[in-house]
Amino acid sequence: MPKISYTTLGCKLNFSETASIVREFTEQGYKTVKFGEKADITIINSCTVTAQAERKSVNATKKAAKISPEGKIIIIGCAAQTNPERFLNTEQVELVLGTHDKFRAYELLNSNHDIIYSCDIQDVNNFDIAYSTTERTRSFLKIQDGCDYPCTYCTIPKARGKSRNSSIKSILTEAEKIASLGIKEIILTGVNIGDFGKSTNETFYDLIKELDKLDGINRYRISSIEPNLLTTNIIKFVAKSEKFMPHFHIPLQSGSDDVLKLMKRRYNTKIFADKIIETNKHIPNAFFGIDVIVGFPGETEEHFEQTFNLLSILPISYLHIFPYSDRKGTPATAIKNKVPSEWIKVREQKLAELSNKKHELFYKKFAGKLHKVLFESKDENNFFSGFTDNYLKVAVESNIDIKNQIINVQLTNFKNGIFEGIIL
Ligand code: SF4
Repeated sequence: MPKISYTTLGCKLNFSETASIVREFTEQGYKTVKFGEKADITIINSCTVTAQAERKSVNATKKAAKISPEGKIIIIGCAAQTNPERFLNTEQVELVLGTHDKFRAYELLNSNHDIIYSCDIQDVNNFDIAYSTTERTRSFLKIQDGCDYPCTYCTIPKARGKSRNSSIKSILTEAEKIASLGIKEIILTGVNIGDFGKSTNETFYDLIKELDKLDGINRYRISSIEPNLLTTNIIKFVAKSEKFMPHFHIPLQSGSDDVLKLMKRRYNTKIFADKIIETNKHIPNAFFGIDVIVGFPGETEEHFEQTFNLLSILPISYLHIFPYSDRKGTPATAIKNKVPSEWIKVREQKLAELSNKKHELFYKKFAGKLHKVLFESKDENNFFSGFTDNYLKVAVESNIDIKNQIINVQLTNFKNGIFEGIIL
């Protein structure tokens, strides 16, 4: 039986696509082995969102070649689309597949083929549905791809093309397949999922209403949504839904209106703040994970203080902090007054401390409370861990296997970023 290994860099969307592409190989008789073990085929799903991510994709290629010198390597993903030549120094590289062709990996491998397949991203219109099953308790379901926004620091539109999606009907079919595997939680995934419906004349609000009616899936999480696309009807729907979790991941990027203008973002700090406050009013126990970029060109100490102060006063729960790095071909590279890397580090550290404080404050609000937990994994000491609806991590001791079960738990001690609990 031929062996296939794989590794994914980057986002949840890449994760769902790797899973679907590898699934075609296993359906054709391949056995999956861990990345790092010898394999006949290795798939590397690359990322280009930062210079470091692209470097890691190239290093993973070299590592795969060392592990399986006789094997063949297939590079897919965003760096394969934006910079395919970068992978050709490794002789084991058999295919480099850009956005249009990555789902043809098995077909092309088994036919006469060139090495690079990377057409002009403007010509990419196809939408390949994808979902992951490897975690057995939750699945990343791709509902949308690409982006039409002009953010000046971002390479994603160049890697994934224009915003597009498949129909609500076809997504319901995929969700039913996931439910039939006994998986209880789906994370709706894409590039700009609030923009869902562009190519089918539907809306994200329509989609979540239909998914809510589907039997077999207990929980949905919205992986990330732009503040200007988190509408009042979506907020009110999540507030009353049993299945859509009170968990929001929202990009802010900067708390300075001047910097947001330089980034060409589609909201200002007032719109953002009002959206957080409105959501918090309708869903008081909601978890807010916020994306912030530090050190964007032109960001002064005063701009950074505005970001820090805004985040300090808002009821947010956690920060995802990204140090700015120039990305070839993006308008931001031409913006003057680059921020020295040592200043970026200082600002990053300050926000990380704020994030820890906010995270602990958020957790402590729920001590002693009763929450439903979906248990996902077990450690060697019979401790099972999982997450509440509002994304609190919980671990309980159990002698019976409670993996993939949703159980009422009384949250007790909060220690090292995790709640202990008592099963009721
Ligand atoms: S919304 Fe902006 S940052 Fe996000 S993928 Fe689109 S262009 Fe990139």
